[in-house]
Amino acid sequence: MRLKDKVCLVTGASRGIGRAIAITFGREGADVAVNYSRSREKAEEVVNEIIKFGRKAITVKADVSNKEEVNEMVETVIKEFGKIDVLVNNAGITWKPTKILEGTKEEWEKVLGVNLLGTYYCIQAVAPHMIKRRYGKIINISSLASIGTTFGEQVAYGPSKAAINILTKRLAYELGEYNICVNAIAPGLIKTEILSVGRSEEELEKLFNKIASVTALRRIGEPQDIANVALFLASDESNFITGQVIVADGGRFNFLSHSV
Ligand code: NAP
Repeated sequence: MRLKDKVCLVTGASRGIGRAIAITFGREGADVAVNYSRSREKAEEVVNEIIKFGRKAITVKADVSNKEEVNEMVETVIKEFGKIDVLVNNAGITWKPTKILEGTKEEWEKVLGVNLLGTYYCIQAVAPHMIKRRYGKIINISSLASIGTTFGEQVAYGPSKAAINILTKRLAYELGEYNICVNAIAPGLIKTEILSVGRSEEELEKLFNKIASVTALRRIGEPQDIANVALFLASDESNFITGQVIVADGGRFNFLSHSV
């Protein structure tokens, strides 16, 4: 077991990538706090999956873009489990496809609020506990969109994820002296509900086929592909890795000129 008796908080773990990470961590011996903001029943299903491995798991409701709710969530986890070894900042949103010049204040505020400030608030609340114990792993879920290749018509999403990359690097330096590793994962296209925003089933299918055709491995990703990277970064196998943005995209970035 690669995470035996570790305590992990995974944000946005009710479905998609966060769900796969939470269940994988439970399978590897961790107790897990499963955060959600709206999808309580789905989060409870994730908890039930983890309990089957003989581990403890709880749901914790919080909108990560709300600092007070984040602080309460972290207090609950500390009260319940006594510590947090691993924080995965996974909660994230996108917006309906929009040309950059047509972006709105609402889009910027919502997307930056959840993706960037949400990540920051969680780190601010959790890091002091890690500093006290001189141990911690912080994993931020960025995106291939952060480094310049993605499908078009994204306004605030790419910038929100690019900011996460630099936050990861600066924080890695600041927290390094306390034995806390801070890394990011930049997934390529992963089959989850986030992609349905503003797209019909038909458009989605077309997008998947198009992306798969310009990817070296000729497929799009599954949530488990990202959970496997998160497991490595959460485990002691990665103790000398910090400040990195690890791309997991099946080999799409190398085909920038063919990208969509
Ligand atoms: P998803 O299936 O839509 O899941 C998003 C999760 O985030 C849900 O559990 C949702 O739970 C939660 N969430 C949304 N807003 C929240 C908030 N304000 N506070 C707390 N939780 C919130 O999307 P996904 O694809 O798994 O995305 C996970 C992460 O991977 C995101 O950061 C996304 O940007 C990133 N990513 C995804 C892809 C991809 O192709 N799928 C590629 C690159 C990066 P509730 O319903 O309870 O709010």
